[in-house]
Amino acid sequence: MSKANVTEYFACDVFNDEVMRARLPKPIYKALTKTKKMGVALDPAYADVVANAIKDWAIERGATHYTHWFQPMTGSTAEKHDSFISPTDNNMIILNFSGKALVKGEPDASSFPSGGLRQTCSARGYTIWDPTSPIFVKEGSLYIPTAFVSYTGETLDKKTPLLRSMDVLSEQALRVLRLFGNTTATKVTSTVGPEQEYFLIDKKMYDQREDLIMTGRTLFGATPPKGQEMDDQYFANLKPRIAAYMADLDETLWKLGIYAHTKHNEVAPAQHELAPIFNTSNVSTDQNSLTMEVMKKVALKHDLVCLLHEKPFAGVNGSGKHNNWSMSANDGQNLLDPGSTPSENMQFLTFLCAVLKGVDEYASLLRISASSAGNDHRLGAHEAPPAIISIYMGEELQGVLDALENNSTYKSESQEFKIGVHALPDFPKDSTDRNRTSPFAFTGNRFEFRMVGSSDNIACPNHLLNTIVAGELCEIADQMEGVSAEDFDTRLKELLVKIIKEHKRIIFNGNGYSQEWVEEAERRGLPIYRTTVEAVPHYADEKNVALLEKFGIFTRAQIHSRMEILLERYCKTVNIESLTMIDMAKKKFIPVALSYCKELCDGIAVKGGLGIDASVERSLAEKITALNSEAYKLVLELEEKTAAAAALEDMYQMALAYRENVVFTMEKLRKCVDSIEVMMPSEKWPVPAYSEMIFNV
Ligand code: ADP
Ligand code: MG
Repeated sequence: MSKANVTEYFACDVFNDEVMRARLPKPIYKALTKTKKMGVALDPAYADVVANAIKDWAIERGATHYTHWFQPMTGSTAEKHDSFISPTDNNMIILNFSGKALVKGEPDASSFPSGGLRQTCSARGYTIWDPTSPIFVKEGSLYIPTAFVSYTGETLDKKTPLLRSMDVLSEQALRVLRLFGNTTATKVTSTVGPEQEYFLIDKKMYDQREDLIMTGRTLFGATPPKGQEMDDQYFANLKPRIAAYMADLDETLWKLGIYAHTKHNEVAPAQHELAPIFNTSNVSTDQNSLTMEVMKKVALKHDLVCLLHEKPFAGVNGSGKHNNWSMSANDGQNLLDPGSTPSENMQFLTFLCAVLKGVDEYASLLRISASSAGNDHRLGAHEAPPAIISIYMGEELQGVLDALENNSTYKSESQEFKIGVHALPDFPKDSTDRNRTSPFAFTGNRFEFRMVGSSDNIACPNHLLNTIVAGELCEIADQMEGVSAEDFDTRLKELLVKIIKEHKRIIFNGNGYSQEWVEEAERRGLPIYRTTVEAVPHYADEKNVALLEKFGIFTRAQIHSRMEILLERYCKTVNIESLTMIDMAKKKFIPVALSYCKELCDGIAVKGGLGIDASVERSLAEKITALNSEAYKLVLELEEKTAAAAALEDMYQMALAYRENVVFTMEKLRKCVDSIEVMMPSEKWPVPAYSEMIFNV
C-alpha cells in the first residue's frame, strides 16, 4: 500500500485540467475547456494537437494502447484496444495518435443489443468522444469516454440520452431562473452522488458455487441461524481484511480521480457501501461504472469476490444504489437548496413543485428505470422501497407546502410565518427527518432516488429524471414567461398551488414498508408495478413517448427498442438462472441426497440385523427421500416450463411466461432443496452454506 499523501497521487491517472493546462498551447487549452464546460464541439483543427498531447502524457503513464470506452445496452462497459504503434520505413515503429482517432471510432456494432434498431447488414457503429467526461489511463490503456451510435444515427448506448437530457434540463431550468431575474447563470447541470452497496465473500467459497459464478446470486441456500436480526453489522467496525480491501479500493479510485468519500458496513452481514462526492450526472455515471469494475478487480487481489447483484442472498438485505440527484446553476447555486431569503425560497418551491409534478406524472418511467430481474427480488421486500413511486418531503417541507396550498400560516419551531409569496420562511435544512423507506426522498438539498438496483447503470434513471423535470420546468416557463411583473407573484402562487393540489397524492411521509401503504397507494390510484414484466410495457405509454419525443431524447422506435432490450435481458437472466438451478439440482443436490439416503438405509439394515433401534435413520431417510422425489419432480417441471417460455415468439409473452411459470417453479424447487440441506450433515453438502459465506470474511 502506498504511503504517499493522497493529495499527491489523486487523479494522477487522469488527463485533467491541470495536465491540459501544462501541456497544451494556451488557445487550444482554452478551446478545449470551453468544449468541456459548455459542451460545444472542439475545433477539428485543434484535434491533432490535443491528441498528441494526450498520447505523450498517456505513454508517460505507461499506456501502449488507447480505447474508446462506451456503455452499450448490455449493462456493462465496452472497450476495444488499439495500440499507438505505427510502422516506419525501416521496419521499426513510431507511436501515433491522431485527432481523428481521438474524436471518432468505428467499432462493429452488430454484436451489441439494439432491440431491432440496427439492421445486421449495416453493422457499422460510431463511438464519439465525450469531452465532458475525463480521459484516463488504466492497466496500460488510454480510456476515452465515448457515446455509441449506429451508422444511421440511432443511439445504441446509455450515455447519449443522458447527455441529451442534461442539455434539455439546462435549457428549461435557465428559462425558469430568468423568470426570477437571474441573468448570471448560463448553464444548469444535473448532479448525482450514487451510493453503491456491495457484498464481499471469500473467493474460495465463490468458486464452489455455480450459481454465483453463472448468475451473480445464490439460487439455493438455507437461511442461517443468524442473519441480520441483531442489527450488529450496520456501521460496525471494519474487520482487517475488509479494511484492507477498502483502503486499496480508495487508493485505486483516487488515482482515477474518483472522489471516493464514505465507506461503511451495511445492514446485512458481508454487505458494505461506498459513496463518492457528487459530480455532474455524466461524470458520475462514467465513474460509477468504473467504480463497479474496480470494486470487482480489487476484490480479486484480496482473494475476495465483490457481488454487485441486487439480491445475492435470500433472507438478508439486498443491494441498491441510492441516486442522490439535484441541479446546480453555474453561478453557484444548488436549485434544490431551500436557500435563506424569501425570494430564493419561492424559486426553490418552483423547482420543488416541478419535481413533485414530474414524479407523479411520470412515475412509470422512474419505476422502469429501476426494473431488472435482479431488482425484482429487492423492491417491496421489506428492505428496500416498495415497487410504488412516492415522494417523501419531511415534516418541515410538508408544512410549508400545506401552508402554501391553504394560504395559511406556517409554524416552525420558533417562529410563525405567513405564507405570502414574499414571506416564506427560512426553513432549516437539516430539519428533514430521515425516512429510509421512501423510494424518492427529499434530503435537505437533493432528492435521493433509492429504487435503483446495485448493478444498474445510473444513466437510465438520471436521463429520465432530467427529462421529466425539464418537461415540467418547460410547462412552468411557458405559462409564466408572458406574465407581467405586477401579476407575477400572484400567478406563480396560483400555479404552484394548483400543482400541489393536483399532485400531492404522490407524497407519502409514512412507512413505505407497510402493507397499509400498498392499500393506500391503490386507493390514490398510484401505479403499482410489482415486477419488471409489469412495469416495462409502460415505457410506450402515450404520455411517456410524447415527453421523450418532445425533447429529442428518443424516437418512438427507439423507445420500443429499449423496451425490447429490457424484456430480452429479463428473459435471458431468468433463463440462465433456471438452467443453472436445473444443473445444480441434477448434478449436485439430488445425487448427494440419494447417496446419503443409501448410507442411512445401509445403516438401518445393519442395525436391524443386530436388533438395534434405527428410528433416527429411518425418519431421516423417509423425509429426505420424500423431499428428494419432490425436487426431482420440480426439476422436470422446470425444464418443461423453461423450454416452453424460450420457445415463445413475442418478447412480452416470453417475459410473462418466465415470470409467471419459470420464476414460480424456481422458487418451489429452491424451497424443496433448502429443506433437504438442513437435514443433511454439513460436510456432505456439496456447496458452501450461507453461514460460511456471509460470516466467514
Ligand atoms: P446518506 O447515506 O446519509 O444518505 P451519504 O453521505 O452516504 O449519505 O451519501 C450522500 C450522497 O449524496 C453523497 O454521494 C453526496 O455527494 C451526495 N450529494 C450531496 N449533495 C448533493 C447534490 N447537491 N447533488 C447530488 N448529490 C449530492
Ligand atoms: Mg450512505
